[in-house]
Amino acid sequence: MTKRVYNLNPGPAILPEPVLEEMKENLVSLPGVGMSVLEISHRSSTFENMLNGAIEDMRKLANIPANYHILFVGGGASTQFSMIPMNFMPLKNKADYIVTGAWSKKAVKEAKRIGTVNISATTESENFKRIPKQEEMKFDPEASYVHFTSNNTIFGTQFFTEPIVGDVPLICDASSDIFSRAVDFSKYAAVYAGAQKNLGPAGVTLVIIRDDMMARCSDSLHTMLNYKTHVENNSLYNTPPVFGIYVISLVLKWLLKNGGIDAMAKLNDEKAKLLYDCIDNSSGYFTGHAEKESRSKMNIPFRLPSEELEKKFVKESADSGFAGLKGHRSVGGLRASIYNAFPLQGVKDLVDFMKEFQKKNS
Ligand code: PMP
Repeated sequence: MTKRVYNLNPGPAILPEPVLEEMKENLVSLPGVGMSVLEISHRSSTFENMLNGAIEDMRKLANIPANYHILFVGGGASTQFSMIPMNFMPLKNKADYIVTGAWSKKAVKEAKRIGTVNISATTESENFKRIPKQEEMKFDPEASYVHFTSNNTIFGTQFFTEPIVGDVPLICDASSDIFSRAVDFSKYAAVYAGAQKNLGPAGVTLVIIRDDMMARCSDSLHTMLNYKTHVENNSLYNTPPVFGIYVISLVLKWLLKNGGIDAMAKLNDEKAKLLYDCIDNSSGYFTGHAEKESRSKMNIPFRLPSEELEKKFVKESADSGFAGLKGHRSVGGLRASIYNAFPLQGVKDLVDFMKEFQKKNS
C-alpha cells in the first residue's frame, strides 16, 4: 500500500484510518447487499438503516435530546448561512451575530438579505486573534436568535463556553469542532456543521434543530430551503448525500468504539498542548496567531521569523510527510489542523520536526 502522510489540512481533512479501511473493504460490494454503497438506492432499507443508525449513534455519542431533529443536507455549511435566517429570523426580523472570523462574516452577509443584523461583538480590528469576552457582547433581548461560530478554522480561536444569551435561541456553526469535546446541546436551538473536518467527507452537512424552532419555518419558503421539508421526510425528501452519510455512520461507530467524546476531548487537549508548548518554548521562533485564552484545540496557525523561512518550512515539512501546513492567506504562515482523527503520534512527530527545523535555521 502507498504510505500515508500526516494530513494537517483544514478540510476536507483526515479521516480515521480504520474507517478508510472499512470503506475500501465494502466499496465494491456491501456485505449482504451485493452492490456498492455508491450504487444503492436512498429508498432501500439498507440505506434507511444506515441513516437511522447514524442518527441513533449520534444521539448516544453526543447526548442529543429526543426533542432535537438530526438532519443531513447538501449545500455545505455555507447554505446554512442562508437557511438559518430564512427559517428562523422572520419572527422579529432581526438577529444578533457574534463575529469572530471569516465564516461568521459570511453568515452575516446572508442574514442581512433577510433582516436586520446586530453585531453583538467583533474582534475584527485585532485580526480575530481572540474571542470577545461576555461583557463585550451586546445582545438585543428581542432578537430572533444569537448566532456564533464555536471554532474559527482560519484564525485558530475557539469558544470554551457558550455566550450567555438569556432566553434568546442560540445558534451555532460548529463546522470545525463538532464532537471534539462534550457540549450540552440543550443550550442550543440549532447547531450545524459541514462534515469535512470532524465528521466525514465533503458534500454533507449536519443540522441539529430543537423542535420548538420548527414553528418558525414558513410554508412560503422554497421547499428545499425549508427545514420542515427535511424534518418531515427524515432527510429523504430528495436524494441525500448517500456516500457522505455512510462515511459519517462509520466515523460515529469509530468514535463510540474509541471511548466516545470524552476520550476524544482528552486526546485533543493532549495534542493541542504538545503543539502550543512547542510554540511557547521556542523563545519566540514560532509565534501563535491566537491569544492564549482563545487558542483553538483544532486549528493552530503559527508564524516563523520570516516569510522566507515559512516557505522553507512548508516545503521541507511536506517533503518529510506532513501535508497541508500552509496557512490561510489572511493570517499567513502555517496552520496545523489536528481534528479528532489526527493521531497523537503525528503531533509528536510534527513537534520533533519543528524543533529540528528551528535548530537548523536559527
Ligand atoms: N464554517 C466554518 C467554521 C468553516 O470552517 C467552513 C469551511 N471551512 C464553513 C463554515 C463553510 O463550509 P462549507 O465549505 O461546507 O460550505
